[in-house]
Amino acid sequence: MIKAKKSLGQNFLIDKNILEKIVNSTDISNKTILEIGPGTGNLTSYILKKNPKKIFVIEKDNELSSDLKNKFNNQITIINEDVLKVDETKLFKEEVIVFGNLPYNISTEILSKWIVNLKDKFWFECLVLMFQKEVADRIIAEFNTSNYGRLSIICNWKLNIKKICDIEPEAFSPKPKIDSSLLLFHPKKNYIKINDPNNLEKITRVFFNQRRKMLRKPFNQLFNGDKKILDKLKINLNLRPQNLGLETYYKLTNEYEKLRS
Ligand code: SAM
Repeated sequence: MIKAKKSLGQNFLIDKNILEKIVNSTDISNKTILEIGPGTGNLTSYILKKNPKKIFVIEKDNELSSDLKNKFNNQITIINEDVLKVDETKLFKEEVIVFGNLPYNISTEILSKWIVNLKDKFWFECLVLMFQKEVADRIIAEFNTSNYGRLSIICNWKLNIKKICDIEPEAFSPKPKIDSSLLLFHPKKNYIKINDPNNLEKITRVFFNQRRKMLRKPFNQLFNGDKKILDKLKINLNLRPQNLGLETYYKLTNEYEKLRS
């Protein structure tokens, strides 16, 4: 009997309907799959039933990794590593489909790492990822809402995002204290070019540092009150950070890069 490790965010999915729903969220037959944090292999078994070409899994827990080896033999390739230290862009020759019931404590860190490292050619075809519901709500939030912020702006830059469903704690063992949501991410064909994604992180950090305050102070801090940029992007400095749409933040980042080039 496996004892779940809280430090590694181990809540294993046991609801068969949800497992089925996850693998049915996109067509995976004959595709290469990467699963993050396979745990006891519940989701891995469902993926295998759909006849993928190949399955790679990244699992940090040594004990679970060796159990997976015994359970699946050579049906899967196990990478016994911390996902935050793996460079997925170098692992695959073709675009892969990524599944992950992510450890909640590092879910946004994993997603941010992928987004910041994305080149023009994507290494994945789509991502099917489970988050804590409260985090998923921030990822998909629309502007002018209280959930809208850095996470929504950064995640929606190069990705189209759709919620598949919410999942109750009863679907897991041990039962978490929070609800979860399953999100599906597809690369955008067109997106506003930003040379260094760290600049998008910086711009959103400064603007949302005081989300209830007007835009005037952060704008002046970053752009020295440049009126041309205000007119070009039609920004009213009496608004608050949550009132600017996604594209305005990408364009602001562009202007910031131009000022520094
Ligand atoms: N996919 C399984 C399921 O749905 O039953 C388990 C999901 S559980 C929420 C998260 C899994 O990620 C655990 O197996 C845990 O050991 C693994 N994990 C935690 N931190 C990790 C890291 N930094 N790198 C890779 N795997 C990690």
